[in-house]
Amino acid sequence: MKVNKNYLKLEESYLFSTVNRKVREYQAKHPDKDIIRLGIGDVTIPICQAAIDAMHEAVDDQSRKETFHGYGPEQGYDFLKESIQKYYKKNCDVELELNEIFISDGAKSDVGNILDLFDKDNTVLVPDPVYPVYVDTNTMDGRKIVYIDANEENKFLPEPDENIKADIIYICSPNNPTGAVYDRAGLKKWVDYALKNDAIILYDAAYECFISDKNLPRSIFEIEGAKKCAIEFCSYSKTAGFTGTRCGYTIVPNTLEYEGIKLNKLWLRRQTTKFNGCSYIVQKGAAAVFSDEGLKQIEKNIEYYKGNAKIIADVLDEKGIFYTGGKHSPYIWLKCPNSMGSWEFFDYLLNEIQVVGTPGEGFGKNGQGFFRLTSFGNREKTIEAMERFRKLIK
Ligand code: PLP
Repeated sequence: MKVNKNYLKLEESYLFSTVNRKVREYQAKHPDKDIIRLGIGDVTIPICQAAIDAMHEAVDDQSRKETFHGYGPEQGYDFLKESIQKYYKKNCDVELELNEIFISDGAKSDVGNILDLFDKDNTVLVPDPVYPVYVDTNTMDGRKIVYIDANEENKFLPEPDENIKADIIYICSPNNPTGAVYDRAGLKKWVDYALKNDAIILYDAAYECFISDKNLPRSIFEIEGAKKCAIEFCSYSKTAGFTGTRCGYTIVPNTLEYEGIKLNKLWLRRQTTKFNGCSYIVQKGAAAVFSDEGLKQIEKNIEYYKGNAKIIADVLDEKGIFYTGGKHSPYIWLKCPNSMGSWEFFDYLLNEIQVVGTPGEGFGKNGQGFFRLTSFGNREKTIEAMERFRKLIK
């Protein structure tokens, strides 16, 4: 029996454990100090009422013989897929076939699982800094990974480089950790590159709901040609507070074909073999999120987070600090003032004003000297944290 040794090549991520240890140690030494966490990547507002009501009803369905649901379709119930189909049409004027929509228990699993469809010999292109799941899942398979720099110069939105050849390309927009968002022209360059090089784009749209500017794309399928070279992943996690409830969706166009093989068919085969569907109760809740009432309710929550982001961004503007994100994203990615390193800045904020963020270098080498703040916290605490920041940073 041989073990998959690629797992031994995974780099340990000490980012959040180190952050937590430092905060714990500080709190133990200074029990009277009020620490404010602006590093949190999880939502804090509860699930909207429309979804909660629908899930309560679904629980009752499961208690009666006439309405009980056993195994559902592995790729999701039509009632949920239809609501997603309508959402795409309304938000981005993208037409989807029902069989192009696959329901899952979240974007993270599908982003990892999709790799089942690809040969291990493919080269993978990942922007740096990056959501670590893209790197780790490919490392587990032993694929070659090449990096493209996202930095201050390109405002953390790298463009394709014909000198870098890759078969599988990851794009996350709005981006975690940088909050940067591609416009249509920027995405078109990537679509053109993928079409020309017979590559595939794995497009992570987990934060699409934070985009409010009609000029910015919420789906890669708004870009001409994308249905021939892209798969899109999305999730109810940040859209509707489903991080602990779990539901997501992946769009695999029928027109996506490599070596004469339709990826939609392969993904259906993969899912029907290895996945037994997302729970009926959760799918009922997710469908209610995209009802008229649900959409109104989640919009209020998203506006709340965006209000927090604006409070953070306004202070950075006032201080003349370079940052990306904060407008169409819950993340604000700022350049540490006075050329500080990202851990140095972390310690400085913790010790001086008891504000906790996330050091950028935990997301890749280009994160050195950068820092991530998030808007998922509470309004009063965000205001208080940024007041302290205003007074501290000269
Ligand atoms: N993609 C990105 C870029 C994320 O930041 C996250 C979660 O933080 C996910 C995917 C995971 O989403 P889910 O909760 O649907 O698994």
